[in-house]
Amino acid sequence: MRVSVEESGAFQGEVTLNIAGLLGVGELLFRLYPNHFGHLLRVEEARSEGKSLPLDAVEPTVLVVQLPSELPQTASLHLRFSGVLPRELLGYGIFAHTARAMIMSQFYPILAPWEGEWLLHPTFPFGDNLVAEAADYLVFLQVPSGWVPVASGEERKTGWNTWQINGENLREFCLVLVREYTGLVDRWADVEIRVFFPFGFDQAGKRALAIAKEALPLLTARLGSFPFPDVDLIAAPLSGAGGVEYPRLILINQDYALDPYTDFFAEIVVHELAHQWWYGEVGTDQVAEPWLDEALATYTSSLYFEVQGELEQKVREWQDRFLQAKKLNPQASVGSGLWEFLGRSGYAGYVYAGGALLLHEVRSSLGDEIFFSILRNFREKYRWRIARACDFLGLLAEELGPLFSALALEYFGDQPQCQTEPTGSVNPR
Ligand SMILES: [Zn+2]
Repeated sequence: MRVSVEESGAFQGEVTLNIAGLLGVGELLFRLYPNHFGHLLRVEEARSEGKSLPLDAVEPTVLVVQLPSELPQTASLHLRFSGVLPRELLGYGIFAHTARAMIMSQFYPILAPWEGEWLLHPTFPFGDNLVAEAADYLVFLQVPSGWVPVASGEERKTGWNTWQINGENLREFCLVLVREYTGLVDRWADVEIRVFFPFGFDQAGKRALAIAKEALPLLTARLGSFPFPDVDLIAAPLSGAGGVEYPRLILINQDYALDPYTDFFAEIVVHELAHQWWYGEVGTDQVAEPWLDEALATYTSSLYFEVQGELEQKVREWQDRFLQAKKLNPQASVGSGLWEFLGRSGYAGYVYAGGALLLHEVRSSLGDEIFFSILRNFREKYRWRIARACDFLGLLAEELGPLFSALALEYFGDQPQCQTEPTGSVNPR
């Protein structure tokens, strides 16, 4: 991918995809996620083998590229795109031009997953909307003077304002440009940890680094090695979220960096670190089954609080939040898709708190050894793929036996419909 970003927040790029196994696929579907909030991202042209390909927009976030019938099984496809970062924080503010950070989440056309049919969900102003396969990225970037890129991958300066970034097995490529920021680098074992905070947030930067260094040994002891060679922690203005996870990159809402000694600040850092396993490495359908990666991230990040004797307190918090969610939105359950939480009603209480409680009950029943071996098996089996809730629940059911039905009833309101549900065809609108 070649991308050039201007001071104004306008950007242009061209992405080349090398795709194998295209035989019989007549079209490719790409997601233009920023367009949930307006016409912010545009694909101007698609080409393959020197020929222009017809484009069709089904809706603002879905682009269809028609493939010629004679296309070989393996082909290169070029998409030329452009866009502009708004000056306001729309949604969580993850696609925005602010005074010191240009946050460019999902700024390029992203191939929808193919599971015998295209996996296509509507987009929502909350939750994580991206569902994508992991891919290898090589990015040539030009930035405006004074801005420094922090991205999913390894950044290498190649010229005055030019950079080359590469990363393997990325579910998406996140790019943030910063200015007037301080960077700190440290290591835990073979993982490089880098933090980037605006000038004046030095305490928060040091604290974030310290928390990451404390959390990594706890998480890796239970889950196995960290999925990536490095991770970047960036503070930036966000709205309505404490943090947001990307492969090899974590955004932290800088409002919470004003007092980095709170439990919540630590929770943001550790929760988003846990997502490097649950979302980054083991992909999930974050729209239809948002609980899967959120419950796993919430529960495994509580390992950090457990060593400080605070697990019981976390469990009580989850119980309160879960109870409140059930009152607010009695029709929903832990297993609900984003569309069942319109207005965010009960979303965090079910998906994060309820899901974490379920995992806590499973761990209490099975004991640490079996519980964490289930998590490691799940990780091994679905590494760099998109796992389904049923894949995980199947592993739990095997160990839990008859107890599984009672837990399913309590958290999902019913037995999960694992056999009959077709994969990839959920379209609730
Ligand atoms: Zn999360």
